[in-house]
Amino acid sequence: MIVGVLGGGQLGRMMALAGLPLGLRLRFLDPDPGCPAAEAGELIVGRYDEPAALQRFVRGVGVATYEFENVPAAAARWLTEHVAVFPPQNALAVAQDRVLEKRCFRSLGIGTAEFEEVDTLGGLAAAVDKLGTPCVLKTRRFGYDGKGQAVIRTPSDVRGAWDAVVGTRTGDADLELEAMVEFDRELSIIGVRGRDGRMAFYPAIENSHSGGILSFSVAPAPGLGEARQQELERACGRVMEHLDYVGVLTIEFFELAGGGLLANEMAPRVHNSGHWSIEGAECSQFENHLRAVCGLPLGSTRMAGSETDGPGGVSMMFNIVGRAPASREILAIPGARLHMYGKAERAGRKLGHVTLCADTFAGLQRRAAAVRSVLERAGGRP
Ligand code: AMP
Repeated sequence: MIVGVLGGGQLGRMMALAGLPLGLRLRFLDPDPGCPAAEAGELIVGRYDEPAALQRFVRGVGVATYEFENVPAAAARWLTEHVAVFPPQNALAVAQDRVLEKRCFRSLGIGTAEFEEVDTLGGLAAAVDKLGTPCVLKTRRFGYDGKGQAVIRTPSDVRGAWDAVVGTRTGDADLELEAMVEFDRELSIIGVRGRDGRMAFYPAIENSHSGGILSFSVAPAPGLGEARQQELERACGRVMEHLDYVGVLTIEFFELAGGGLLANEMAPRVHNSGHWSIEGAECSQFENHLRAVCGLPLGSTRMAGSETDGPGGVSMMFNIVGRAPASREILAIPGARLHMYGKAERAGRKLGHVTLCADTFAGLQRRAAAVRSVLERAGGRP
């Protein structure tokens, strides 16, 4: 079967690599002829809203999906009229808009930061009054890796934050203001739901960011406990059932010092915080996404090598950002697995990642320090 994927970034590339052993061929639509997925599958070069490109893309495709959420709504709509598309369009619409997303979480009893819709400068000043400072101004749509955001520390920051996020454009804007959350750490939960409604969840992941970009992830999140894992799974499961979701869904949470949990955002796709699952889980997020959208049985989300009832192993993923180290330096670290995405170096750009797996966290420490030191010497980061 040919699986059509809108977007040809590294997520698509890793999906293609996961699909090959299952006999699935992937076809991508992306405007960039040199996109990372081009080396791993068939590429149609074209804009997402270009009718001729979409026509070529869907010919002979059994099912379509996407690897980034900013798919133009009109393209998603056109596709659903011509081929089965998963995750469903309503999930895409909710995930594209921070306000709809937060309303969706709240309607399902999942807590979020306090927030206000904002569309004018005057409205922003009033919202800052209401929520208090510090707070964060964000674009409702098309933000990623902390882009399209500005922190407001005092009311005198309002104008600067508006200019930083909206620019010199005049007229109304689609923004939201969020109360600043004092969190202990950031967690994500990755769930997958099949066409038959069955669900599975990976162990929750702890994520550390640098300059708004994911720096490294640890799975399972250290010291998480079974009750918190269950709580995260219930929240993710409720969202998937509510949206009649099919595929992999990721939800990012803030874990508060007092133990509370607030949902920050969701991604209707495979996610950077799940890259460890290629080696670290019995079936990776990429394979499980393909299994789900193709109507195949889901694979096990357990840590690789776990006994049936045993604790299972641990895994750590480091992003390679901006500048890449020499491959041989990473490959010289025992058990380090290197994934490069075929992208040119550029500040703040995700170029690849490294995964380590071990039986225990203690078993990871020395090799994690070695990976960090190689990445630091390469001089990447934002
Ligand atoms: P986002 O694009 O919403 O994932 O935000 C990027 C990063 O900014 C998050 O991973 C957090 O580290 C931080 N951040 C976003 N929103 C808030 C908030 N309301 N309070 C505190 N930190 C935030």
